[in-house]
Amino acid sequence: MIRIQDYSFKNKRVLLRVDYNVPLNEQFEITDTARIDASLPTLRKILDDGGSIILMSHLGRPKGKDPKCSLEHILNYLREVTKATVLFAGDCIGAEVESKVKALQPGQILLLENVRFYKEETDGNVEFARQLASYGDVYVNDAFATAHRAHATTAVIAQFFPKDKMFGFLMQKEIDELNKVMNSPKHPFTAILGGSKISTKIDIINNLLPKVDNLILGGGMNYTMHKALGGQVGKSLVEDEMLDVARGILKTAKEKNVNIYMSVDSITSDRFGNDAYRRIYPTNAIPAEMEGMDIGPQTALNYRDVIMNSSTILWNGPMGVFEFDLFSNGTFMVADAVAAATKKGAFSLVGGGDSVAAVHKFKMEGDVSYISTAGGAMLEFCEGRQLPGITCIMDE
Ligand code: AMP
Repeated sequence: MIRIQDYSFKNKRVLLRVDYNVPLNEQFEITDTARIDASLPTLRKILDDGGSIILMSHLGRPKGKDPKCSLEHILNYLREVTKATVLFAGDCIGAEVESKVKALQPGQILLLENVRFYKEETDGNVEFARQLASYGDVYVNDAFATAHRAHATTAVIAQFFPKDKMFGFLMQKEIDELNKVMNSPKHPFTAILGGSKISTKIDIINNLLPKVDNLILGGGMNYTMHKALGGQVGKSLVEDEMLDVARGILKTAKEKNVNIYMSVDSITSDRFGNDAYRRIYPTNAIPAEMEGMDIGPQTALNYRDVIMNSSTILWNGPMGVFEFDLFSNGTFMVADAVAAATKKGAFSLVGGGDSVAAVHKFKMEGDVSYISTAGGAMLEFCEGRQLPGITCIMDE
């Protein structure tokens, strides 16, 4: 497999798939440029080598050609940060694209319109991929956040570049960091899994149990676990159909010598809102009219002890309904413990939309070792699945 740092892009037309699915406000201004910024080392390398870039991305989930999802909204920002000539094609295939590709000079970028304006993209249509492939000499995939999709530009297109295909720097880094955690972690290895439901985290739990020393549970999952053990959890979020699964997790953990940490106390409320009446109860003795919204103070202290004694930490999912300030303290305490452990020398990786949002909310971006730009792709990687965006490059 070719590594991007070893390749010369001189006089090459490079089809570069990025994930510029950035959030826009009502004036169509970018409110978080992180994904564009993260791709810049790859753009720089190609342009500095004397190559030209045909840039492919999606934005949003358009049904057909929806101007709200036009990539033209990001054009000015891209010009500003690359300081290069950035041209725009109002389509991603067809005559306009062909003539603009022909006229493209080394050092220039041609941004194609949203590839998801064609349903052939998400269908993984081979002919659509072939047409796009005809515009370039090399294919570079730097869209880790979309790597779990077998779409035309994220995976299918690679077959037209049997030799000249590679990961961009961002994708390479994401894979390297995740591999470090999943395949060669320093022990003790602690996984912190939060979020709302066991059902969406069961695959990652199963894949992690043979690897970790400690598994810390946060968020709504605690209530299903406690109910499975016979506790009273009031109105808290419970997946009744997962009670057996919850007991199965505890059994497997015991067999594999994994310590599972669950919340012992919870901050509960009388309603799901930021103006609720709050009270702390043991997580297995919550009154019928109350709902568990966050881990309690004793739990946060317990979790801090475990985190501080870890050498590798993987964190996905908040400890409570952190979007409401009243219930964000548990997530903050965990973020703070992860930051403190990192300062002491642990390697910490945070991934998944909500935990990354929490790290931003608490302004702790600089205090963890690595923040993954991806949500779904990162989860699937940690579940041990093969991601089409990765295998299409690795396959010889
Ligand atoms: P997930 O997408 O599964 O990682 O879940 C993230 C969501 O879980 C966030 O929006 C949180 O507000 C929510 N969440 C965390 N703790 C709880 C809880 N105790 N009850 C209900 N929702 C929760």
